[in-house]
Amino acid sequence: MKKLFIACLGTETNTFSNMPTGEQTFAETMLYHGDATEKSDELFAAPLKVWRHRAEALQADVVESLAAFAQPAGVTVRKVYEDFRDEILTDLKAAAPVDAVMLSMHGAMVADGYDDCEGDLISCCRDIVGPDTIIGVELDLHCSITNAITEGADVLVLFKEYPHIDAAERAEEVFEISLAALRGEIKPVLAVHDLKMISMWRTPVGEAANIVARMTELEGEDGVLSVSLAHGFPWGDVPDASAKVLVMTDGNPGLAQATADQLGAKIWSLKDQTHPTGLTIDEALDQGMQATKGPVVLADLGDNAGVGAPSDSTFILQRIVERGLENVLTGIYWDPVSVRFCMEAGVGAEFDLRIGGKVGVASGNPVDLRITVKNILRDARQPFAKSFAPLGNAVWIQAQNDLDLLICDNRCQTFHPEAFTQMGIDIMAKQVVVVKSTQHFYSGFAPIAADILYVSAPGAIPMDFANIEFDKFSDAYWPRDEDPHS
Ligand SMILES: [Zn+2]
Repeated sequence: MKKLFIACLGTETNTFSNMPTGEQTFAETMLYHGDATEKSDELFAAPLKVWRHRAEALQADVVESLAAFAQPAGVTVRKVYEDFRDEILTDLKAAAPVDAVMLSMHGAMVADGYDDCEGDLISCCRDIVGPDTIIGVELDLHCSITNAITEGADVLVLFKEYPHIDAAERAEEVFEISLAALRGEIKPVLAVHDLKMISMWRTPVGEAANIVARMTELEGEDGVLSVSLAHGFPWGDVPDASAKVLVMTDGNPGLAQATADQLGAKIWSLKDQTHPTGLTIDEALDQGMQATKGPVVLADLGDNAGVGAPSDSTFILQRIVERGLENVLTGIYWDPVSVRFCMEAGVGAEFDLRIGGKVGVASGNPVDLRITVKNILRDARQPFAKSFAPLGNAVWIQAQNDLDLLICDNRCQTFHPEAFTQMGIDIMAKQVVVVKSTQHFYSGFAPIAADILYVSAPGAIPMDFANIEFDKFSDAYWPRDEDPHS
């Protein structure tokens, strides 16, 4: 390899969200024009760092283009997507000829006029570089796998873990398989098995963990180069929304398909055990408050910013207040108006504050509380895997009954206890901690939680997968259809 081109463009589009994804959302999450490997600690920049490092070790030239990622929200503004895409393509034309192109993307990005931004970008890159350049792609497992992606990419590897703790390891694999292909040592071929399911797999435990272990095991066998499970993204209404198994082998399409089909059958047989479940709000609060030891961590499944929800819903907060529960901590609420009031008033100020419930109906009603501003941290951030996520300005406020809340002005899900502890909050002393996250909180909170409970609260991302109001996704799927394969 003499010359490698790298870039990142992505977001996870919740097509049901009323929040537009424009340039500001990218700027607040991750936006670099050629220097992300030097300056960014974001998750989706991690693959670029790996690829640069590996290529430079081979004395190859590395041309680094755009690295843009937006906190998930609604459909991306058309001009914003096209401008970012064209920036990458212009850089690629200037860099050509290159031996390989490596792209870090999400796999569920929708822009106005583009249901499959990744497929579009990959095919535009292919048009520039021609058939002989290797295109290697790494995607988040919450992706929609389309023909444009599988036909355009030579090498395709997805995260295996949810929470996504393995972005760097998967990037190493993209590099190694691409390099071997470039040297003519292997010829990657890809097969896809459509599971016809809309579900989620929490990979740290249970049968979902066994599925990941099996995938890794298969990768050692007879020319199987890579095995991925595309979980799909339940709140992305696109024609290819369902979960799929992907198997890449060395020049053996029959083996790739048979392996994908066998693993698919196994995943299908385990679906009742791996499908996510959740408690009602009161069930979860009861269990949390009755536990002999805290902190019991409750995950608010209805309001995860990482899935395009507003992160300002109040359904659980409302019940905490109505029930007069004591010693609860909850966050992170996206509430720029409240953050501004608190910053104006300063630490120690006590006043009436209207919290949350501002973005839309799915946010519920705002909750009015008498609060004290306990601490303010400007440009705060929190760890996630080996990366960091920006929170903007963060404020710790306290209300009656030792109810602590963390609010911020940059929308972000709750990844890690440090989001709270850096403010001075004693998280270990709380009975119940309610976090706005579906699963990414797990790697950070599991080590400190006395127990973890998932709550099927109402909100923008209901977990009722059988009744999502799809329009563009028209295939039969489980759990809406008992036997979608017939
Ligand atoms: Zn994901």
